[in-house]
Amino acid sequence: MTDFYQADFFTRKQIDEVQLSALRGAIERAKRAPHYGRTLAEIAPGDIRSLSDIRKLPFTTKADLRDGMPYGFLAVPKSQVVRMHYSSGTTGVATAIYHTADDLRWWSECVARGLVGVGVTSEDVFQNMMGYGLFTGGLGLHYAAEMIGCMTIPAGSGNTQRQVHLMQQFETSVVHILPSYAMRVVHYCRQNGVDPRRDLNLSVAMLGAEPHTENMRRRIEEELGCKVYNCYGLSEMCGPGVAIECPEQSGLHLREDHYLAEIIDPATLEPVEPGGQGELVLTTLNRHANPLLRYRTRDITALIEEPCPCGREMRRISRIVGRTDDMFIVKGCNIYPIQVERVLMEIDEVGSNYMITLDTERDLDEMIVSVELSAEVFFDDVRTLEGIRRRIIREVRAETLVTPKVELLQPNSLPATEGKAIRLTDNRQITHEE
Ligand code: ADP
Ligand code: ZN
Repeated sequence: MTDFYQADFFTRKQIDEVQLSALRGAIERAKRAPHYGRTLAEIAPGDIRSLSDIRKLPFTTKADLRDGMPYGFLAVPKSQVVRMHYSSGTTGVATAIYHTADDLRWWSECVARGLVGVGVTSEDVFQNMMGYGLFTGGLGLHYAAEMIGCMTIPAGSGNTQRQVHLMQQFETSVVHILPSYAMRVVHYCRQNGVDPRRDLNLSVAMLGAEPHTENMRRRIEEELGCKVYNCYGLSEMCGPGVAIECPEQSGLHLREDHYLAEIIDPATLEPVEPGGQGELVLTTLNRHANPLLRYRTRDITALIEEPCPCGREMRRISRIVGRTDDMFIVKGCNIYPIQVERVLMEIDEVGSNYMITLDTERDLDEMIVSVELSAEVFFDDVRTLEGIRRRIIREVRAETLVTPKVELLQPNSLPATEGKAIRLTDNRQITHEE
């Protein structure tokens, strides 16, 4: 194995030292970008004596990135840039991130470390079902899988029939896939007489780019007959590979030699108690083209400080609960879509897709949960349907404190997206801001 894998096993002391020296360099380099040239003018290298001195720096937000388009955050001459990516724009205007050749190398190494950490080797056939193009999932995973020496299939997203055919033909052993799309693949297999345990050769499915619950993971593990691991990233931090689960499956190891993490209370912007839940804030330590300091990811998680039984002392983040901007307020209750998913995925009769719609009914908020049922449920069995509906209402109410309206649908009734699933539509006349 090449050296870079060993960084995963730095001791805590080594990680802290590497981070502190890299942070000082990162700040000095960042000042070459127009945005940080302005905002960091007052910060001198001597101001950063310990890692907690990072709090002297201002935060960077998505709005800053938008205002800085196209080159306000570029810290190297354009001639050194070899690639750009867009964030997929789930929450508004897309922003660009630039990379030098060396940025691409260490990014691939980060992803490769995570894949090797769950047992991927050069013997594997890696089918990459993430979208290729401006989205970071395609190329980000592709180069890492090649770096490991996997036979890499650049399948991209969509065309389920061909995906399953490729998996059968080439005996794909590892996939990286959107969780919502994995559910569609499962559904396709069921409908077309493909038994993944018998007809496919999968040993690992990596899920990423969307929030998903532990229940969703278990379902996919059972259906596909393989281990399922969680992979987190965002285009502002290169893309996939920022944090990936290890076989212990109790948190995702951050690649802390490249990313410095903080958790803040998004309302007060102060650090949370150790181990507390809050917004993840990340700093790139080694990115030359497009350094980002104290970037507010809007993702809600917690930091796990304890060393992991796998031997890594790189800290972990817990499963992402959602984004601050995913959260919606209904009748005064704060809800993340993932809470509804947690309930639904516990119910055997629930199929592969669901959606939440918010509406106004006689001046009151209403939450409608539309759920596709599995193909095994008979729609003329009214009593069973009523039982499922009641159970969903009861359990969603227990989880969110809001009584939903529940709409039960045949498989494939909800619109399927090519990319990330859209879980929430807000049709209310007055949108409720916090
Ligand atoms: P956009 O921000 O436009 O959606 P990105 O592709 O950069 O574009 O998406 C990154 C976001 O996707 C993260 O900030 C996070 O909200 C979500 N995400 C990525 N991976 C995971 C994961 N494993 N679990 C939960 N959410 C994830
Ligand atoms: Zn571990």
